[in-house]
Amino acid sequence: MKRPVRPSELPSIPAWEPVPGLYIVATPIGNLGDITLRALAVLGGAALIACEDTRVTGKLLKHYGIKARLQRLDDHAPPEVRSRVIDEARQAPVVLVSDAGTPLVSDPGYRLVREARAAGVTVTSIPGACAAVSALAMAGLPSDRFLFAGFLPVKDKARAEALEGVAGVGATLVFYETAPRLERSLQAIAELWPTREVAVARELTKLHEECRSGTAAALAGHYAAHPPKGEIVLLVGPPSETEAPVHDTDALLRAALADAGPGKAAGQVAKQTGIDRATLYARALELKGE
Ligand code: SAM
Repeated sequence: MKRPVRPSELPSIPAWEPVPGLYIVATPIGNLGDITLRALAVLGGAALIACEDTRVTGKLLKHYGIKARLQRLDDHAPPEVRSRVIDEARQAPVVLVSDAGTPLVSDPGYRLVREARAAGVTVTSIPGACAAVSALAMAGLPSDRFLFAGFLPVKDKARAEALEGVAGVGATLVFYETAPRLERSLQAIAELWPTREVAVARELTKLHEECRSGTAAALAGHYAAHPPKGEIVLLVGPPSETEAPVHDTDALLRAALADAGPGKAAGQVAKQTGIDRATLYARALELKGE
């Protein structure tokens, strides 16, 4: 085994002559070592750092010994705040960071970048950690094509519709998820795609990092028995050529409920689709109550 490398032995930060513009800087998603030398140089040379939460960014900067003027800025910030930040970026280097990872990836920044570019301000991206990309790199699912689809909706119907909307996409699907919603999302995926390979990447770069794969039903069972904690990326492999066509289970159940009670309707649709009868029964009861 090699001996551990101490930070003081690492290469020093390359010199950076501060140049005016807007710099989009990625910060760690857990492990504080995951920041680039260039990101530290740009943060250290920034006239202003715009961030989602000044307390979160303040802590991060303190860790690296960087002092800077902070400005809270999220996508709900009034347009005049964005204009002031853009005006300052004409004269001096201004940085945008989010609480963690790459800004604009399920994080604020889109409006600021768009308006800065329209105003002729140079926008530079300083790449680094991103949970979606880290999860894809470790999940063992096809990575030649992937669709990052952000967070799934919270409500069952909207979630099912969102999943059905990407059913035909021939690429690995990457979603951000929260621990309390994981099991329900896995059940929804199991209903729609019982045979696809799914992966759950949790607590990336942190002490309890794990990446677990299997069918959505098996993973739902695992997380029902071991409720997950922390931050999660949920990945779904692309459809195989033999995958059964996507069923509109609600439509099938509604048709069956026209002549049968929820139990019989669930049984019929279970036979038609191969979807678990108990799940269909629960949904049939909901549809009957609508
Ligand atoms: N901009 C960030 C990025 O580049 O990954 C994502 C911000 S988004 C508001 C936060 C979501 O990203 C979390 O709910 C989780 O789904 C995912 N995430 C962030 N850090 C993570 C980590 N360390 N492990 C797993 N997922 C993470």
